[in-house]
Amino acid sequence: FVKRDRRHSSLPKEETLQEKNQWFPSAEDLQHALDNDLIDVHFQPKISCDSHLLIGFEVLARWQDETHGAVLPDYFIQLAERSHQIDTLTHQVYEQAMTWFARLSKVVNPNQSMTLVMEPENLTMAINISVVNLQNRNLPEELTESCVQHGIKPEQVILEVTETTAMDNPTEMLDILTRLRIKGFGLAIDDFGTGYSSLAQLARLPFSELKIDRSFVMTGDSSLESKAVIKSVVDLAKSLGLTSIAEGVETDSMRTYLHSIGCDILQGFAIAQPMTGEDSEVWIQNYYQS
Ligand code: C2E
Ligand code: CA
Ligand code: CA
Ligand code: CA
Repeated sequence: FVKRDRRHSSLPKEETLQEKNQWFPSAEDLQHALDNDLIDVHFQPKISCDSHLLIGFEVLARWQDETHGAVLPDYFIQLAERSHQIDTLTHQVYEQAMTWFARLSKVVNPNQSMTLVMEPENLTMAINISVVNLQNRNLPEELTESCVQHGIKPEQVILEVTETTAMDNPTEMLDILTRLRIKGFGLAIDDFGTGYSSLAQLARLPFSELKIDRSFVMTGDSSLESKAVIKSVVDLAKSLGLTSIAEGVETDSMRTYLHSIGCDILQGFAIAQPMTGEDSEVWIQNYYQS
């Protein structure tokens, strides 16, 4: 039941490296990585399109192997899904992310001038959730428990579910997604525009955000078609009362375009690359000083 559409356009640079490397780890390799805490998390900032204020971060899993180098997330996530290791992986990812996020609130000291523009308790953290994770009936309780332990409000945590995933079985998804929403978690449809979901189904599911797939955003500068898709997703989000996010924003001209059509949130290399927790803290300081 693990279905994912593979897009062949605009592969990230890392993907090319991976192809050259030709190391495709096995389920045993992944187990070794999980047992030895070799899976780390990076954070990529999201900013308000209007005010440029920091909104929060998306958490991205990283696996850096000593001898073989970086393993692509797209590859090892699918491996984890197939080999029933995704619950462990997701758990390790959100535990690390929440630990960092809780610490961040202390680093961004309420007495410093930074809070004039940013209240740490208003920042959000987006975690990617696989379709397989959604089959775990206890996920809402487990995530809530982790929030309580780290002193984070569920309202600060957004769960990103890919469009194809969410639409695989909308009736089945409705229950678990509703329970997560009732606990207070934000729910984003990731990679929006790549699946073929019916708008009627979409409107019934309790999502709070639409995330435009980066394949459109990355090609929008040179493609009228991509621009048209981007604009219609932003319009759709508005009419459904959802927050719109553009990821893969690489250029200033794309930023300007997204601003002109009223997109809410931006994420991409034009703002920052995914970074380690430490680098993210430095980035925040610099961002508000410049
Ligand atoms: P995604 O959820 O769509 O994540 C965004 C991807 O876009 C990330 O790739 C990020 O590094 C990349 N990106 C961000 N800004 C730009 C940009 O301006 N240009 C370009 N070219 N790329 C940009 P990454 O980290 O390689 O992750 C790939 C996918 O792997 C993610 O796509 C997500 O589907 C999956 N993934 C990553 N971490 C996790 C995780 O912890 N759990 C699950 N279930 N999936 C994860
Ligand atoms: Ca995502
Ligand atoms: Ca995405
Ligand atoms: Ca994706």
